[in-house]
Amino acid sequence: MSTDKLKEYKKKRDFGKTSEPEGGGRSKGGRAFVIQKHDASNLHYDFRLEVDGVLKSWAVPKGPSTNPSDKRMAIETEDHPMGYKDFEGVIPEGEYGAGPVMVWDHGTYKNMKRVDGRLLAMDKAYDKGRIEIWLEGEKLKGGYALVRTGKKSDKRWLLIKMKDDEADARRNPVSSQPKSVISGRTLKQIEADESKKQGETNS
Ligand code: MN
Repeated sequence: MSTDKLKEYKKKRDFGKTSEPEGGGRSKGGRAFVIQKHDASNLHYDFRLEVDGVLKSWAVPKGPSTNPSDKRMAIETEDHPMGYKDFEGVIPEGEYGAGPVMVWDHGTYKNMKRVDGRLLAMDKAYDKGRIEIWLEGEKLKGGYALVRTGKKSDKRWLLIKMKDDEADARRNPVSSQPKSVISGRTLKQIEADESKKQGETNS
């Protein structure tokens, strides 16, 4: 099942060249979410949620906001393997998404989407184009909604902070907390570390 879901992911990548995971990885306790800061042709934040054994993914150009008045464009991208949630490094030149990737935030989430008082399964919420989740990250906490803006074939969604105690219009974590939650590095440091590694391999 999850092999099929990863067809597009695998087709786009040459695993002999990129250090991105081909698959694997599993969650430990609670459903995982990760937000990866990725400086490809354009800087963006990849928002990923564990749903049925894969990471459902959206590219958010401006990154998430803690202000409920902000609607952040989120473009749906291909499902990624669970193992991707720990990926930090540099996708090499000539490969899909070439550029440095950082684990900007991670943690677990809970499904909050209810219809007539009952929880709606994540895959159903996704099909309907209205996902509501509670994040327990290091930088982001509280309720977030992902809302598809058009038909199902339309890949455009909006990422919106819900109004709760974790909402804060003054916080701007994208600019005030720019570093990796797993290594403390900036994107520049990740790139520098990678070229050092390459230099050592080549000498
Ligand atoms: Mn990306």
